[in-house]
Amino acid sequence: MSSVEGLHEVRSAIATACRDCGRAPGEVTLVAVSKTFPADDIAPVIEAGQRVFGENRVQESRDKWPALRAAHPEVELHLIGPLQSNKAREAVALFDAIHTVDRPRIAAALAEEMARAGRTLQLFVQVNTGAEPQKAGVLPEAADAFIAECRDRYGLAVAGLMCIPPAADVPDPHFALLAKIAARNDLKGLSMGMSADFAAAIRQGATHIRVGSAIFGHRSKTKEA
Ligand SMILES: *Cc1c(COP(=O)(O)O)cnc(C)c1O
Repeated sequence: MSSVEGLHEVRSAIATACRDCGRAPGEVTLVAVSKTFPADDIAPVIEAGQRVFGENRVQESRDKWPALRAAHPEVELHLIGPLQSNKAREAVALFDAIHTVDRPRIAAALAEEMARAGRTLQLFVQVNTGAEPQKAGVLPEAADAFIAECRDRYGLAVAGLMCIPPAADVPDPHFALLAKIAARNDLKGLSMGMSADFAAAIRQGATHIRVGSAIFGHRSKTKEA
């Protein structure tokens, strides 16, 4: 299957999932995750009408995206992978949204770099809903305090929350937990759901789904590291 066929299949699955739970497809932003795929694979997907893309590494994005964005200025680029504070300046220049804000140092660096650049990015706080030791994100019990710190101390307009449920778990309870934390913090955005579980995420209220392999095909593990 080509990536354009993959895109159309994912779009129709989004429409079905939305119809099943009474949501409008326009409420769900598809973030097409193009990590590891070269510009030649991405261009046809842009030409087929996809506007929002996700990458997980700053350096790979810097290599791939400036030329694509020059040719397609309407495209939005989202960082969905971890950010080091020493790359905050570059991230603010490259991306329109960051889904992985999870510690004060990053919040402070983004606030400073957005002010310096005069740019406002959409920011999502990543929550480690499964409390996995190796995974990024604030713990669920620390989320309220961290969101408040982002707002009050750093003056950030948080757009929403993001999670990556543990691979072995049924994802629905994680999506429900994220939605609950968002609701009590008055946050509208919910970045949750990937190729295997985006329909479940939509049923739990996802506003942003991050879908890679269902569009672009299988990634080789070596390139993904
Ligand atoms: C790679 C990645 C995705 C996309 O995963 P697929 O299973 O290929 O859809 C989504 N979110 C994050 C954070 C990722 O790193």
